[in-house]
Formats: sequence, structure tokens, C-alpha cells
Amino acid sequence: MDEREKEKRGSDTGKKIGRRSLLKVGAAALAGVFAARTVKGEGSSGKSLKGKRLAMVIDLQRCTGCGGCIFTCKIENNVQSGVAWSSRIIKTSGKFPNLRYEYIPTLCNHCEKAPCVKACPTKAMHKGDGGMTLHTPKKCIGCRTCQAVCPYEVIHANTEEPHKFWRGDEVAIADCTSSPSELVERMKGKIPSYNPDKEKSSSGAGLRYKGIVEKCTFCDHMVRNGKVPFCVDRCPASARIFGDLNDPESAVSKILTKYRPWRLKEHLGTEPKIFYVRNYNPGNYEKSKGSV
Ligand code: SF4
Ligand code: SF4
Repeated sequence: MDEREKEKRGSDTGKKIGRRSLLKVGAAALAGVFAARTVKGEGSSGKSLKGKRLAMVIDLQRCTGCGGCIFTCKIENNVQSGVAWSSRIIKTSGKFPNLRYEYIPTLCNHCEKAPCVKACPTKAMHKGDGGMTLHTPKKCIGCRTCQAVCPYEVIHANTEEPHKFWRGDEVAIADCTSSPSELVERMKGKIPSYNPDKEKSSSGAGLRYKGIVEKCTFCDHMVRNGKVPFCVDRCPASARIFGDLNDPESAVSKILTKYRPWRLKEHLGTEPKIFYVRNYNPGNYEKSKGSV
């Protein structure tokens, strides 16, 4: 078991899947996403994250670009259609047959010097334990100042009533399947991907509301229970590593000393805590044989 696998506390995955079989990886990612709902619900007591500097490293050589992190985040955090807290930058350059394809997964950078936190007039956007950038829905007045100052465009504003899909009456098969709104009715008004665990870390965070903003929270509801964010847990290629920068023995600290890391828009001085190492380069992929 390598360092990043050890770091996946609470994970029931842990398989390493080679880049050669993208189809297999995609299937594994989806399987992981749907299995994910069974892992939550361990109470709200939580662990103290005081004194920690939580960060994520994304190993681009391991990343296969399967998008499993995007699906996982949506399911776990009840992210509505048309919104992605976990996303990616895709770049294609060159001329056929000498093409280069790059895939860079993205999310809130949980910046140490977060402009969104500094600018928020109500302290709805704030720094939580472990240095996570969090948002309190009840304090948010929807002024969107945070969205304007975030250089990474990871804050989404709900200008319309969220979860439109779940209010629809369309059925896939007439006289056979239920419509989305019928499903919601059967679930006593909760949309099917509603996650009550989110309420434990911040009241009102389990659902989305019109007129306020939302973004990645590093799955703080899981991290407080000693787990890792779900995108880390469910990444079938183990490309995501999460841990404490203040702990020299953590997997993130070790990987950051082994490779030369870089961060998005580093020149802006926001001190992002999402680090990238190595390159997305499937043509020259080298197995790391269980080591970092
Ligand atoms: Fe704030 Fe944007 Fe930095 Fe996230 S990436 S902490 S939303 S400034
Ligand atoms: Fe703060 Fe909400 Fe305004 Fe953003 S939209 S700056 S979180 S009050």
C-alpha cells in the first residue's frame, strides 16, 4: 500500500487502475459514485482540525481524465444539474497527428489568502478549521462579491430556483416510470440526492437556495469525521491526495517534497491549497508501482 492509499482513511476502495483501460476506469468511477451513498452517516461529533493546513495534491500523471471526481462530488454534495463544484480544464494543442491533450481537474482552491473571504460583507464566506474556505447559507445575502473577486471562477450563484429538474412532470416511460416531482413527493419533499450530513457542518447546506452562492467545501462534513473528501476517496486512479501540510509525515507533504508542484494562477498571491504534480501525458505514462 503506498502513501496515498494509507491516507484514504475510511475508504473502502483503494484499487489502483492503470491508464491503459479508460473504459474500465470510467466504469469503476461510476460504480464508486453510486456506492458512495452507503459510506456516510457517522454522526456529527467530528474531529478537531485546529492547527491543520488541509490541502490536496492532484497527480496529473495518475489522472486518467475519467471525470469520476465530478460525478462523485455531484452525488455527495447534492450539486444541481448545470453546476459543477468539481470541474476540469481541457486543452488541446498542436496539429494532427502531433496533438497534445491536457486535462487538469479543478475545484475551489481553499486559498490561504482567499479574496472571497476578505471581500464577503457578512462573513458568510469564511475560513473554517483546517483552513477550509466554507460558506454559511444563512448568512449569505447573495451580493455575489465573492464570485466577482474569486480568480478561479469556482463560485456559483443560484439566480433561479435550484433543482429545476426535480420539479418537472416529464416521465421517461408513460404509465410506467415516475416523474421527478413524483419521486420528490414520495421522499417527503427531499430531492433524492439530498445529503443530511451536510446539515451537520452548516445548517442549510444540505440543499441549495435561490439568491445565494455555493461552492466546494472540501467535503468538510466528511473531513470532520476523519475521512477524506469524496473526490479523493472515489478517484479510481488514486490521483488525489489529501492531508495536512503542517504534518511533515502526511502524504501531501511527502509528495510535495518529491515532485516540483505548481498551482493555478500562483502569481496572484492567493496561496491556493490545490497543488498539481507531474504532467497529464498518457503517451509516456509510467507505472509508479505502488510508490508515489
Ligand atoms: Fe475563494 Fe475562489 Fe480561492 Fe475558493 S478558489 S478560496 S472561492 S478565492
Ligand atoms: Fe458573502 Fe453571500 Fe455576498 Fe458571497 S454572495 S460575498 S457569500 S454575502
